Parts: sequence; structure tokens; C-alpha cells
Amino acid sequence: MIYLKSESEIDLMRESAQLVSRTLAEVAKYIEPGVKTKKLDEVAEGFIAKNDATPAFKGYGPPNNPFPATLCISVNEQVVHGFPGDYQLKDGDIVSIDCGVEKNGYFGDHAYTFVVGEADEKTMRLLRVTLESLYAGIEQAVHGNKIGDISNAVQTHCEQAGFGVVRDLVGHGIGKSMHEDPSVPNFGRKNKGKRLRKGMTLAVEPMITLGGWRIKTLEDGWTVVTSDNSLAAHYEHDIVVREGEAEILSTFDYIEQITQKEIDTH
Ligand code: MG
Ligand code: MG
Repeated sequence: MIYLKSESEIDLMRESAQLVSRTLAEVAKYIEPGVKTKKLDEVAEGFIAKNDATPAFKGYGPPNNPFPATLCISVNEQVVHGFPGDYQLKDGDIVSIDCGVEKNGYFGDHAYTFVVGEADEKTMRLLRVTLESLYAGIEQAVHGNKIGDISNAVQTHCEQAGFGVVRDLVGHGIGKSMHEDPSVPNFGRKNKGKRLRKGMTLAVEPMITLGGWRIKTLEDGWTVVTSDNSLAAHYEHDIVVREGEAEILSTFDYIEQITQKEIDTH
């Protein structure tokens, strides 16, 4: 069942999405070699609480193994759903941070892959192509197109660059639940799948690797890694389908304001 949102609902979704954007930017201030990933989680949890919202991931999942943290922090070959913990970031790592919140009954869910210090050219190209593929997908998310148009745009862009497109995890509808219909795969054929209609709200989230598309889940039941241990990148935006051009509800602007300038004090 796909729920189309009214403009007043979209206003609330924008507020939730933007809170995630600002949370990720807050976290970005602390990303540097030597920082433990659990510190980033504390920063996010505090910031979300201060903004009268609830972390969406903490406690999510099966009752016998709920997700334990506010952020999913996935380093290097980890694709998604990594646990924050005692791992200390080091120069050259890439760290994918996914954050979800609920505010006013609506969810925001988006993600960004950061570089710690400096990474090599091959890694930077993975990040750039993955980010480009996110926008290539969103460009197709217009009224009258189909889900497959988004999927195909992401897949084509990344595979042409020689990268692997994760298939077992997909984007999704979002709204009063974090995951709603429809699924938004990052691979597929043009003009296939459900038709996009204005008012559909989607989380588009390419998960792309330097190697193959296969993944596996670690024994903790959550952390997803590439099967070939290649590096993985993940960017996610929340969008609303409109006529002519989708509106992106989340933004990376706040993050980029932080990452493009030196932070002296924490
Ligand atoms: Mg998502
Ligand atoms: Mg997410």
C-alpha cells in the first residue's frame, strides 16, 4: 500500500528530514582520526533529543536483537547497519553514517559517506560516483515515471564506472513509518515497476562497492559487509515525487559547510 502525502504532511516530513541533515552535520564536526565511533553516536543522540525528536533506529528490529544505537556507522568494507563502538577512526577510512529520526509522527532517514583525513583517488572516485548516482536516480523520480527508471539510472551510472551495485538492500517509501511501500531497488529496468505519482515520498539510497555486489551479514545479526571485503559507499536522500522534478527533502548542505572548513575546537 503506497500512501500519497498531502502538502501539510510533506511539510512535516521535510522537518524530520532536515533534522537528520542537521544531525549528520553535527556529527561531521567530530569525524577525525582517533575518534571512537561511539562518540559520534552520543553526539547524534544528544542532538536529536535536544530537537524534541526520537532516534528511529535505536530499538528497531526483532525484539531479541534490536538495533542498539542511534546511528548506523559502517566503516570501509561495512556497507550499512554497523554498530557504533570502540573502533577509532583512522586516516584514509571511509565511514558511512545513516541516521533516522521520528518527529511529529513522521520519519526522516538519510545517510552520507565521509572521508576520515584523506583517502586515495580510487576511494574518492567511489564516493563521487555513488553520490552522482543518487542524483541520477532522483532525476528520474518524477510523476509518470516508474520505479525502474530510478533503479536503472543508479545501476547504469555505477556499473559504467566499474563498481558493484548492492542488490539485497534497497531504498523504500517513507512517511509515518520508516519503511513503507514501494521498494526502490538500485538495479532494474527502465519503465518497469510501480508508477510514480506526485505525493509519493521515497528514500533513495544507492549502496555501491569497489568490487562485487554480494554482501553478507556478520554474527551480530546487523552489520552488513561486502563479501569480497571491497570498500562500500552509501548516500541517501528523502524525496517527494512531483511533476517535472522531485523535491529533495533532506540536504547535504549543512554537512558540506562543516567538511569544507577546518574545525579547531570540539
Ligand atoms: Mg533508508
Ligand atoms: Mg537510512
